[in-house]
Amino acid sequence: MDFIHEDFLLHSEWARRLYHGYAAAEPILDYHSHLPPEDIAQDRSFRNVFEIWLQGDHYKWRAMRANGIAERFCTGDASPYEKFLAWARTVPFALRNPLYHWTHLELKRYFAISKLLDETTAGWIWDCANSQLRQPDLSAQGILQRFHVRVLCTSDDPCDDLAYHRALAESGAACAVYPTFRPDQALLVHAPEAFNRWVDQLERAANREIASFASFLDALQQRHHYFHASGARLSDHGLPYCYATPCAESEAAKIFANARAGRAATPDEQERFASLMMFFFGRLDAEKGWTQQLHIGALRAINTRARTEVGRDSGFDTIGDDNQASRLCAYLDLLEREHALPKTILYNLNPADNYPFATAAGNFQDGSMAAKIQFGSAWWFLDQKEGIEGQLNALSNTGLLARFIGMVTDSRSFMSFPRHEYFRRVLCNLIGREMEDGELPNDEPLLGKMVRNICFENARQYLGLPIREPHQASTGGNGGSQQVAECG
Ligand SMILES: [Zn+2]
Repeated sequence: MDFIHEDFLLHSEWARRLYHGYAAAEPILDYHSHLPPEDIAQDRSFRNVFEIWLQGDHYKWRAMRANGIAERFCTGDASPYEKFLAWARTVPFALRNPLYHWTHLELKRYFAISKLLDETTAGWIWDCANSQLRQPDLSAQGILQRFHVRVLCTSDDPCDDLAYHRALAESGAACAVYPTFRPDQALLVHAPEAFNRWVDQLERAANREIASFASFLDALQQRHHYFHASGARLSDHGLPYCYATPCAESEAAKIFANARAGRAATPDEQERFASLMMFFFGRLDAEKGWTQQLHIGALRAINTRARTEVGRDSGFDTIGDDNQASRLCAYLDLLEREHALPKTILYNLNPADNYPFATAAGNFQDGSMAAKIQFGSAWWFLDQKEGIEGQLNALSNTGLLARFIGMVTDSRSFMSFPRHEYFRRVLCNLIGREMEDGELPNDEPLLGKMVRNICFENARQYLGLPIREPHQASTGGNGGSQQVAECG
C-alpha cells in the first residue's frame, strides 16, 4: 500500500465514514494566505518543482540547516536542481516532522507521485513533476480550480493599489480573491527609518500629505475604505503580544512627530502608540462589519548573524513565551467597552496559550451571532497533527467546536492546499475515535453535519465574503479525483 493512501490518518471506521462522506468533497475557503495576487492574476506557470515548492519555504530551510546542509543550498546561489537534491537528501531525516507528511501528500495530490522522496528517487521525481507542471491545471489558477478553492484571501499592505485584485474581480474567475488589510508597519515608531519610508508610501497611496498624526489616521481610514470597496472584509495583525495601554491622542501625536523627525520612540512610548493604533484599527473593522485576525506570539528573526546574512522571514523565528492572557483580554475589553469589538479570530503560536486564548474568546461572545470571537486554527509551528488536535481539544472543552470556522493554509506556496485535507483527516479521526468509543453519539447526520460545516459552511456564513458560482462540477477540496498521467 502507498504511504499516502485513501485512509491516511483515518484510524477508525467512523473516521473514514466522516472523512469520505462529509469532508473530502467540501470546497475550500482559504481566508488567510500569503499567496501573491500577481501570480494569480497573471495565472503564473511554474518552470520546475523548485519554483512551485521550495522557493521561499522557510520550513524546509530550517530542516535542511538542521540536517547539515549549507545555506547555499537553502537560500543561496545553488542551482534549482541542487537545492531540490539537498531537500531530497533531508527528507528521510524528517521522519515524524510534519514536513514528512506534507511532502508526500503534496507530491501525491499534485503529481500522483507515490514514491518516497530521497536522494535515490530525486532525479525521477524532478523529471516527473516538471513534465506535469506544463499542464494548464497546474498553473496558479488551474491549481485553485483543481482544489476547489472558492475563496482566497491574500495579505496586503494598506499602501497596495490592489490592481491585481481588481483585475481578478473583473475576470470572473471561479475563485474569488479578496485582499486583507495588514497594517503592521503603522506601529513602527521605534524604527523611524522603516516607519518613514512606509508613511511616505502611504502618502502616495492615499494621495494626500501626512503632516500630522490626525492626517495619518485619516489616510489609514481612507485606505481601509478603499480595501472595503475592493472586496476586503478582513484585517490581520502580527503581534508579539496584544497592546492594551493606549496613550492619549495628544501624546500619540508627539510620538508620531518625533518618529517623522527621525527620533525613535522608547519601548514604552511604542507600546502606548501601538495600543492606540490597534484600538483605532479595531474600531474601523467594527464599523464596517469586518473580521480582525490577531496572530500573536512569534519572536521573529532572533538570530542576528543569520538575519544580517540571510534576512528576515528566512526561518529564524521561535515561539515566544510572553504573558499573553491578561493583555489579550485587556485589548478585547477596551474595544468591547466602546461597543467597538469587531468579529475577531485569535491565533496563538505557543501551545501553552491554547486554553488562555480559547477562554479569552469565550468572555466576549455577545449573543449577536454564533462564535463572534473565534479561537483560530493551529498556526505555523502548531500546524501539525498534535497542534491541530490541541487546538480542537481546547476549543471543544471551553467553547463550541460546531461553530468553528476551520482551517487556513497561511502559506506562500501554491502547493499548500492539501493542508486543508490534512486538517480534515485529523478532525475526522478525532471525532470518529470518540464515536467509536461511545463518547460521541453514533449519529451520522449530526456529526457529519458538524464536520461539513467546519470544513466550509461556517466560514462562509461567518466571514460574509461573496462566493461565485463555479462553472464546472466540484472535484472536492483534496484535488484527489483528478487523473494524472503516470511518469515513465
Ligand atoms: Zn499569515
